[in-house]
Amino acid sequence: MSKPLIHHRTAEFGRMFTSVIEDMQFVYRTKGSVLMMTASGTGGMESAVVNLLSPGDLTIVCSTGAFGDRFVNIHKAFGLKPVVLSFEWGTAVEPEALRKTLKENKGVKAVFIQHTDTSTGVVNDIQTLSKIVHEESDALVVVDSVSGLAAERLETDAWGLDCVVTGSQKGLMNAPGLAFASVSERAWKAVESSKLPKFNFDFKLIRKSLADKETPWTPAISIVAGQAAALKLLRAEGMENCWKRHDELAAHARKLLKDKLGLPFYAKNPANILTGVKLPESVDGTKLLADILKEEGISIAGGQLHLKGKIFRLAHMGFITKSDIEAGVAALEKRLVGAKA
Ligand SMILES: *Cc1c(COP(=O)(O)O)cnc(C)c1O
Repeated sequence: MSKPLIHHRTAEFGRMFTSVIEDMQFVYRTKGSVLMMTASGTGGMESAVVNLLSPGDLTIVCSTGAFGDRFVNIHKAFGLKPVVLSFEWGTAVEPEALRKTLKENKGVKAVFIQHTDTSTGVVNDIQTLSKIVHEESDALVVVDSVSGLAAERLETDAWGLDCVVTGSQKGLMNAPGLAFASVSERAWKAVESSKLPKFNFDFKLIRKSLADKETPWTPAISIVAGQAAALKLLRAEGMENCWKRHDELAAHARKLLKDKLGLPFYAKNPANILTGVKLPESVDGTKLLADILKEEGISIAGGQLHLKGKIFRLAHMGFITKSDIEAGVAALEKRLVGAKA
């Protein structure tokens, strides 16, 4: 990434870009298309909405936290009114509730679900949810796996996922700046008939330049270089081992947090991406995390929206080791000892 920039209309860039796309197919577990966009994860979410849908389309958004609400807001920005199936923060999508909503709403074009909701640290059972969507409807299954991909098991083809969007900066171990979308054959049919406005994120334009080993517009070249290197690590490790490593990191974090802090966990269906922990009422969570960052150089995330100051979120996705987790827990322990829930 720190090397001098190369031009993006060259064979050298074309080779690097192609390796990223092929390695992303490996990570996504798909033989289908993978498209790359220069944007953060939210751009990937928007790309799915604008490329798959048309004005007036009926959709369902399953919301388990801040990122489900973001899917709803993207819909609204493009004049769509999704049926929103919300769950209490900290809980996962209840499969039978989705089945009921599909039975009550015929002709749904697409169902939008987070793989992991990073605001709560919950993982959704995408395999089961996708099966229910296909049993009950012809709807497309659209998954936001911005934080889930690589940290949690995901089988794009085997689970019948039509569009899975992700970003470079979480499980993919890169700096922020790239979004990816997998697009199934069924999803391409929807793209062909989609009438929502789009330009920068137009899947058809992106597919057309992919054939020339290019992107339609100038990509974030240094971030592509970083992604190519990070994906080589995942290739060498293999996805099963990568998922197992995240199982172990999550188990290690939870054991340490339980033994050293003994505070309640936030999520009822905890993901491998992070562990959310409720802070005692007497503790100012915002100050606690700011102190740890300033005094120890360790960045631990706080709560979002109504959870601000009330929980912390210890990450264990991507380029993180057991000793990183141990350092984070030690910094928390030092400051929380004696504080009771
Ligand atoms: C981080 C994240 C996003 C996208 O966030 P950006 O800041 O736009 O990269 C979307 N969904 C989930 C679940 C996320 O964790």
